[in-house]
Amino acid sequence: MQIAVPVPRAVLHVESRLTRLVVEAGAAGDGAGGAEGLPKALALALEPVYRRAAGAADRADGFDAVYRHLFSEWGYEGLIEELVSEHPLVVAAVDEIWLGCAERQGSAGADLGGPALRQLGICLPAALFLEPEALRLFLRRELLHVEDTLDPGFGYRPGPLRAGRPGAMENLARDRLRLLWGISVDGRLARRFPVYEKLRAERLAQARGMYRSLPDALPERLVAALWLGSRPRFEELRLQVCDHERLLEAYLPEARPEAGAFLPGSPCALCSFPVARVVVEWESEAERRLALRIGGDFPTWRPEFGACERCVEGYAVREGTWL
Ligand SMILES: [Zn+2]
Repeated sequence: MQIAVPVPRAVLHVESRLTRLVVEAGAAGDGAGGAEGLPKALALALEPVYRRAAGAADRADGFDAVYRHLFSEWGYEGLIEELVSEHPLVVAAVDEIWLGCAERQGSAGADLGGPALRQLGICLPAALFLEPEALRLFLRRELLHVEDTLDPGFGYRPGPLRAGRPGAMENLARDRLRLLWGISVDGRLARRFPVYEKLRAERLAQARGMYRSLPDALPERLVAALWLGSRPRFEELRLQVCDHERLLEAYLPEARPEAGAFLPGSPCALCSFPVARVVVEWESEAERRLALRIGGDFPTWRPEFGACERCVEGYAVREGTWL
C-alpha cells in the first residue's frame, strides 16, 4: 500500500516495507540514542488495529497506515524532505519522489526515472535511517550527482564512455569517472558543510589507489583541483578518465611524455588491457622472432608500440621460447 503525502512540490511515496522496517528499528531503539517510550508508542498505535480489523487484509492495511503515520511523526519523512529541498534543481525537476527499500548492498542510490524523467527514485537501506548523519552524507552525495545531470552547464551525456572498446576498459573508465565526479561532489559539499572536509583525505587515498602507476603528484593535484576548483563539465571528465594524456595535461602538464612514449596505465597495443608497463626492447634473436610473429598477427603493430608482459608471454609460449 502506498500513501501519498504532498511535499513542497513533489509528492512523496514511501514503500510500506520501508516504513515498517524503519519504524520497527526506530522503536527497538537500536538507533543512536534510542528514544525511550518508542516501543510503547508503537504498541499503542498498533493495538486498535488488532482490535478493529475485520480480517487479515484489513489488518495489514491498518498496520501500513500506522507505520506510515509514525514514519512521518518520528521525523524520518522530514529528514528526506529536508535533504531533497537542499537541491533546488531537483525540486524543480520532479513531480514525485518514490522512496524504497534497498535490499542489497550496492542497490542504494537516487536516480531520475518515470515519464519524462519527472520522478525521483530513492533507494535506501532501512538501517541507514538509524544513522541520520550517514544518511545525510549518502543522500547529499546522490542528490548532488542528480542535480549535476539536470544542469545544462554540466552537459551530462548518458551511455557508454568508450563506445566500441572492450568491456574491461569501459568498466575502468566508469570507476575513474565515479571517483573524479565524486571528488568534485564532495568538495562542493565540504564548502557548504565544513564537517565534510574530513572526506578529502579519504578521496586522496582513493585517487592514489586508482592512479598508482602515475607520478605521486598527480593524485594530489587532481584532488586539490577537483575539491577546490569549479565543477568541470562532464565531457572534460570523460576525456580525463579515458585518456591519460588528457589527465596529465589537466593536472601535471610538466610530466607529459615524449611523443610515442608509453604511459603507465595506457592500454596494451595488442590486448587493449590497461597495463603499468610494456615490453619495447626486442634485442635478442628470440625477441626479434617474437616481434616478427606479433607483426604477422597485427599488421599495423610496430615493435616500438610494445606489448604487455602477458601478451609477450603468450607469444613466447607459442614459439616455444618461454621456459
Ligand atoms: Zn597485452
